[in-house]
Amino acid sequence: MQTIRGFRDILPEHISLWQRVEQEAFSLFESFGFKEIRIPVLEKTDLFARSIGETTDIVEKEMYTFPDRKGGHLTLRPEATASICRSYIQHKMYATDPLRKFYMTGPMFRRERPQKGRYRQFYQIDAEVFGIESAYIDAELIFLLNELFKRLGLTGLTAHINSLGCPECRPSFQRALLDFLGERKELLCENCTRRIQKNPLRILDCKVESCQQALQGAPATIDHLCPACADHFDIVTTTLKKQGVEFMVDKSLVRGLDYYTRTAWEIKTTTLGAQSAVAGGGRYDGLVQELGGPATPAIGFAIGFDRLVEVMAQLEIETPKPPLDLFIIALGAAALEQAYHWSCELNQRGLRTEVDFRGKSLKSLMKRANKLNAAHVLIAGENELKENQLILRNMETKDQSSLSMDNLVPELINILKS
Ligand code: AMP
Repeated sequence: MQTIRGFRDILPEHISLWQRVEQEAFSLFESFGFKEIRIPVLEKTDLFARSIGETTDIVEKEMYTFPDRKGGHLTLRPEATASICRSYIQHKMYATDPLRKFYMTGPMFRRERPQKGRYRQFYQIDAEVFGIESAYIDAELIFLLNELFKRLGLTGLTAHINSLGCPECRPSFQRALLDFLGERKELLCENCTRRIQKNPLRILDCKVESCQQALQGAPATIDHLCPACADHFDIVTTTLKKQGVEFMVDKSLVRGLDYYTRTAWEIKTTTLGAQSAVAGGGRYDGLVQELGGPATPAIGFAIGFDRLVEVMAQLEIETPKPPLDLFIIALGAAALEQAYHWSCELNQRGLRTEVDFRGKSLKSLMKRANKLNAAHVLIAGENELKENQLILRNMETKDQSSLSMDNLVPELINILKS
């Protein structure tokens, strides 16, 4: 049996970077006032179709959707924002405190063509803020991402920032875009020819070569901002500059989801080839209301966890693992029984201890102690048991001392924790 194409196991030997990222991210989020939220993997299809947008690649081509046994359609979540909005509305969180900051991590599902850095089940670390319209929160989220990547030791990342405007400035931009594309219609792919009526903005995100060609010199949202959006963007960029956060204004950045308004950004790396975005985010001031809640400004981002770990691995960022405190070599049935109880008690009291219960020889157990990088080895053979003199070996200095079984556990804790 094999995993499905685009799905993969993350094996224990690769997990330490994942854990390191989670620890750094969650502690940073907590210090900025975010609270963890856990949401289902499966939602009604309609939630994603309505929020991400019917004419986006995700909804048109990439969702894992299937009929429920009792009718209706369900979808494996392709992203987290829509579900978090659903939860915010469903639990009327706005009524008790409209200002909420959430973070979460978990798998997302998109049926894209698999390649390095692109999977059909991938993981995201997500942060969302509801109830704040101020541009300082936009700057804060980009600053937070920058700080996280710095703490993780990442280099070679660039923040690309743009403003997509709001419903106020969209019509003027759409007119300009349609005028521009009018003379280039024959270059557009079939998909974009269809989208031009329904959702011309999506064309800006098309990866097809001829569409890219058609878009050369196309108008940019940032040149059509209303005064309020222009001021908002100005505060974001001025604040980041003051803080020394490096970024570039990227007029061509549009993001692949329909719900974004105003500030949008992506953090790109040069280490992963074509799949260069390690995080993306933006404002979505209209979404909560669109999904049936009260008008609520909101903003968030998602980090591509798989890609982040791949970048860290390429940069040879290490996560030193604490060694095993004690490996117990127990030879013979009586020693094994004792070792079982000692190790349970030692682990209970916070000393990382292991016993190999397979009944192997002293030589092979010493090899295993080395493989496990044990700091100490306790040897309990038949003779040692009979004479009540166990051997404790410091694996680094090779020093050996003998220990009585009478007060063994407290004695070991004393020695090994000092
Ligand atoms: P998006 O909201 O689509 O911009 O996704 C946010 C981040 O998730 C991206 O910047 C990627 O790092 C990551 N991501 C998106 N799709 C995939 C995928 N199929 N495989 C791995 N990572 C992905």
